[in-house]
Amino acid sequence: MIEKLKSNLESVRERIDEATKRSGRSPGAVKLIGVTKYVNVDTTRKLFEAGCDHLGESRAQVLWEKAEALTDLPAQWHMIGHLQRNKVKRTVACSDLIHSVDSQRLLTAINESGRESDQVVNVLLEVNVSREAAKHGFTGEDLPAALEFVSTLQHVSVNGLMCMAGLTGDIDDAQREFALLRDLRERLKTDSPNNVDLTELSMGMSGDFEVAVEQGATMVRIGSILFEGI
Ligand SMILES: *Cc1c(COP(=O)(O)O)cnc(C)c1O
Repeated sequence: MIEKLKSNLESVRERIDEATKRSGRSPGAVKLIGVTKYVNVDTTRKLFEAGCDHLGESRAQVLWEKAEALTDLPAQWHMIGHLQRNKVKRTVACSDLIHSVDSQRLLTAINESGRESDQVVNVLLEVNVSREAAKHGFTGEDLPAALEFVSTLQHVSVNGLMCMAGLTGDIDDAQREFALLRDLRERLKTDSPNNVDLTELSMGMSGDFEVAVEQGATMVRIGSILFEGI
């Protein structure tokens, strides 16, 4: 299984590199986050051993279970799915970056948890670029107020923005939505507060990561294609 995981990782990395080159960006500009929601703890460990040291989970309880079972690994854990406020404390303790911060109430809860544990919590703000009602996230219009609110929080650091493409599955729609996130970042980064640095753009999954890289993704969140044929 580990050989197959290695070759899957290698082929994804090659495709990322090609998209990086095509768009004239510097090599190594994109971090691969292996999304392990389809597999158990043992396979997650194997993915790390195959060379993927950034691991992502979309459900809080599963993230806790895996991160706590794999504390012997120097992995970085990414929370990428919707987070309920009552699950913030343990998630903050287990993760290096929370990608999916989608409300001021959640920001408040994370700040509170950071205060209790005396740390600054790294987060991305999720943006609902497709404006689908079923999707979480701030709208582009909400973002300036959200960033102003962040400036009042001492235990939160915003490292960038995150989005998911809409459900149409159309690659042109995805490309437009990724471009929108990049444009929002360009517009907002000029006068953002001290604890906001909009460097990171977390966008792109198995079906659309190459267009995301072409539009400036610095993190791609990839699950299914890593586990094909294992
Ligand atoms: C599942 C998931 C991914 C990975 O999706 P794949 O299509 O399997 O690569 C990325 N981001 C989020 C938020 C997810 O829930």
